[in-house]
Amino acid sequence: MSQTDEIKARLDIVEFIGSYIPLKKAGRNYKALCPFHGEKTPSFVVFPDSQNWRCFGCGEGGDIFSFAMRQEGWDFPEALRALAEQAGVELAPPSPRRAEEQERHELLAGLLAETARFYQRHLLESPDAGHARRYVERRGLTAETVERFQVGYAPHSWDATMGHLLGLGYAMQDLFDAGLLVEKEGGGGYDRFRNRLLIPIRDARGGIVGFGARALAEGDNPKYLNSPQSALFDKSGTLFGLDMARRTIRENETAVIVEGYMDVMQAHQAGFSNVVAQMGTALTEPQLRLLARYASRLVLALDPDAAGQMATERGREVIEQVSRAAAEQAVDDGVWGFDAMQRDYRATVTTEFDPRGMVRYESRLGFDIRVLALPPGNDPDDVIRDDPAHWAELVDGALPIVEYVIQTRVAGQNLNDPKVKSTIAGELTPLIDELADPVERSHYRQRLARLLKVSEQALFQEKSGGRKPRARSAPPKQPDTDTPEEAFTADLSGAAAAHPREAFCLAALIHYPRLIYQVNRVLFDYLSADNLIRYLPGGREVQRWPAFDGLAPQVTPSDFTQPDYRALFEAWTAALDQDERAPIDYFWESIDPVLRGHAEGWLAQPLDALYRNVTPPRRMNLPEERLGDEAIRGLLTLRARRLEERIQEHVFLMEDMENGGDTSSAMTFGEEALIVLTAQRRIGQAIQKHTLSGKRTRSGMPSAL
Ligand SMILES: [Zn+2]
Repeated sequence: MSQTDEIKARLDIVEFIGSYIPLKKAGRNYKALCPFHGEKTPSFVVFPDSQNWRCFGCGEGGDIFSFAMRQEGWDFPEALRALAEQAGVELAPPSPRRAEEQERHELLAGLLAETARFYQRHLLESPDAGHARRYVERRGLTAETVERFQVGYAPHSWDATMGHLLGLGYAMQDLFDAGLLVEKEGGGGYDRFRNRLLIPIRDARGGIVGFGARALAEGDNPKYLNSPQSALFDKSGTLFGLDMARRTIRENETAVIVEGYMDVMQAHQAGFSNVVAQMGTALTEPQLRLLARYASRLVLALDPDAAGQMATERGREVIEQVSRAAAEQAVDDGVWGFDAMQRDYRATVTTEFDPRGMVRYESRLGFDIRVLALPPGNDPDDVIRDDPAHWAELVDGALPIVEYVIQTRVAGQNLNDPKVKSTIAGELTPLIDELADPVERSHYRQRLARLLKVSEQALFQEKSGGRKPRARSAPPKQPDTDTPEEAFTADLSGAAAAHPREAFCLAALIHYPRLIYQVNRVLFDYLSADNLIRYLPGGREVQRWPAFDGLAPQVTPSDFTQPDYRALFEAWTAALDQDERAPIDYFWESIDPVLRGHAEGWLAQPLDALYRNVTPPRRMNLPEERLGDEAIRGLLTLRARRLEERIQEHVFLMEDMENGGDTSSAMTFGEEALIVLTAQRRIGQAIQKHTLSGKRTRSGMPSAL
């Protein structure tokens, strides 16, 4: 590999260019406004697959070097030095040391190739390898597969392999460096692999870098023994089978990742030549990066036990730890199980599945990552041997990762238990928040809300600040709040804004009692039963009117979500209904001292100060007369929100009934939902009308209490 190739392999062009200009994901690629010519619509595209970029506006394009040169005004040597440093590649001129390294590398590669031949010869010919041949047969591997993968057998001996290789002229140190020997106490060594089935592990170009060894004797542990990490063998950057799967993966852009060597060989034997296996435990960032060059879609064939574990308390803790640690690794934000961390955590629990990290990765690399759930107790190996067509179906039917996690997590849970709901919501909302695509995010938010039968708002509003802004994503758009009209509609869903609005509306009703009649008149105009029926689609007969005071043609206590506001509103309407004393005196005397203490504070504030809490501070100096209009619109908005919530509840109920086969109840609920929906539309119209005519039909504030 040349030095420039090495640099390119280590640096991700998306990350690199993204550090200069904001990139926006567009399908598999990334777009931006071209930094090299002025433009208003982005025609600058970065292709992660080919690690190239091109501007379709000015025609510039190239690789990471040409971008750096163009962007920084460097010449090639300058760019090479800078990028090499960034990539951690040492730019020594081909020194004697480097030449020596290269030579050493080739020697070890030759040694491993020789060893593989030695092992294979033993498997095929040795009289002592009968049990190994029977094992291969039992696993259903054909002679052709054994040949192709160069499967072999390591003799049942402490020094047979060593003796053979030393006889060929290799030195002890060569054998140690290639990971073939284990050091003996007091010097010397012995064969690492003994009485095992040996499977050569190759890099993407097909060179042998190590071995995976399957135990053949009962009680011989571990079941699988791999070559140690070495100058040749970088476990975290190697995928078993990739050298043979590469072409197919590129052709159909899908890679299937399994856990075992046997699974890969079995799959290839059955004609599924896009299957690769991770080395040992966790899938690593470099492995994913490697695959990203060939595939756009990854299908993970997960062991159902591992997947099940992820749904347990314990698994979740580990995932969180891993995610946290991953987040701290500023080097790369897309990580699915660091090898090093996995090593630490493996002792407690083997979770190789970090959905959050994966979703992050998916978003960044433009991968479509799916999860194939294997039938319980089955390996891919089993499935493929039993019924290859079934395997193909499973691959085709693999679920998007978030969907998979939702299904796994929800299965067998009592979703009517609020505690269960809350736990599940706590686990799944951060995962959904990781999705970069707003459409997908919205889809899963709705899905989860429906499953848990809670409103989407309740599920996600508290966490709305939780999604970590990432450097590459566009900055959040500031809501345009130039006109007061937009304020109420813009922050309809914000939980934080809900209470200030309620406080402002209630205070307005108390400061200016006439407002309540004005709002009630509007509500009556838009919500009276006669009126609603007229607006029902199709003018249909109404069988059942929903019992719901959100349809009441006047302000009700339930329009306030806060219990103290509700109580105060009730006290205020009671005060208005009596004529013994001045309403405000009656009000203060009738309310509970606790409530009084709470109310005095904010009711003493001037109305526009309360209003300022509701609206963005840019428009503070609203004339007092306009405050009445704002209060009316605020109360209508509170009502609209209640209707919206009710509609969502109805949708949940309808779906439940439909799923339960109760079509007639579903229809009744549907009819109710239609009425509520109509009411909501009418309120929407009322808000609009009031907004449009606000300037002309002032509410005419009385000047004093
Ligand atoms: Zn351009």
